[in-house]
Amino acid sequence: MIVNTCGFIDAAVEESLGAIGEALAGNGKVVVTGCLGVKQDLIKKMHPSVLAITGPHDTPAVMKAVHAHLPKPHDPYTDLIGVKLTPPHYAYLKISEGCNHRCSFCIIPSMRGDLVSRPIGEVMQEAENLVKAGVKELLVISQDTSAYGVDIKYRTGFWRGRPVKTRMTQLCESLGELGVWVRLHYVYPYPHVDDVIPLMAEGRILPYLDVPFQHATPRILKLMRRPASAEKVLQRLEEWRRICPDLTVRSTFIVGFPGETEAEFSELLQFLGEAQLDRVGCFAYSPVDGAAANELPDAVAEEVKAFRKERFMLTQAKISAAKLQRKVGRTLRVLVDAPGVGRSSADAPEIDGVVRFKGGKAGEFRQVRVERAGEHELYGRLQ
Ligand code: SF4
Repeated sequence: MIVNTCGFIDAAVEESLGAIGEALAGNGKVVVTGCLGVKQDLIKKMHPSVLAITGPHDTPAVMKAVHAHLPKPHDPYTDLIGVKLTPPHYAYLKISEGCNHRCSFCIIPSMRGDLVSRPIGEVMQEAENLVKAGVKELLVISQDTSAYGVDIKYRTGFWRGRPVKTRMTQLCESLGELGVWVRLHYVYPYPHVDDVIPLMAEGRILPYLDVPFQHATPRILKLMRRPASAEKVLQRLEEWRRICPDLTVRSTFIVGFPGETEAEFSELLQFLGEAQLDRVGCFAYSPVDGAAANELPDAVAEEVKAFRKERFMLTQAKISAAKLQRKVGRTLRVLVDAPGVGRSSADAPEIDGVVRFKGGKAGEFRQVRVERAGEHELYGRLQ
């Protein structure tokens, strides 16, 4: 089994180490990859029996480890499309590696370097191969999806014999031609993000945006050195929803960042109330070795962080529940992940909720009439 890890913040490190332990217990043969792979000593100390540890963005090393422990069957088609670590009906499409920002709580740029965008022709060819292999949903990922192409000055590439610019909008337009679900992750609210909202309204890509806002007050965002922090987020959200009323917005936030006052935290809660986001994750700030934020004064006490996280999640739970309740009575298109469980356009795999019903086959699209809503899940009947 290949375990992809994250060393982004301490909570993610713990989660990754737990996932490695679970994989070892369940399968016994585990290759570790991803960001946490740079901390080999930590992994070896906790899990000495892993077969190999590779760093981020190192598919050849992963493949080498896999082939060393499992002879590689020759398949001329899958040989072309590389490793796929998900169920057959959805796949992650990585469009770039690294990041040009220097958020003070994050060490990803020091591990992965500056942004390097993959040529658009290569990305589109991979997407097309995945669709031909039966993938029904493509999840576009990177460290900063909206910056796609900025490092290569939006160079023109070719796909299906046509010139296409290495740029998020053109990527979305091209992916929209493949006839499968396309979901965007890690989009920062730069002005040109507005250009993809009409594509969502027209049903060419999923009306879903994963925008990691992290905080709402200008002072904390500045301390965090967040990109695009000055944009008028609430106004933008309103405009996006006016163009695409079905838009689902997911975000993540950090509470208890060094120096965060009670008043600033209250402002964040107020922002949540106004923004009415659909899906929200929240981390209590924890320092990561090597992050610039470690030098900031006025660390927030652990119990205060925990309490703020609890209040944050309670506030958001009410918002999410009310938003899900409004879906009762509607008929939604879902992609079935397993009999009885599927996801609508509002649900990214593994991080959002699901839709539950009786029946269905993994990998098929079905219509589900929603009969009931929980805090994170919907329950309904196949049509
Ligand atoms: S945008 Fe910020 S948080 Fe995201 S990878 Fe870059 S530096 Fe890290």
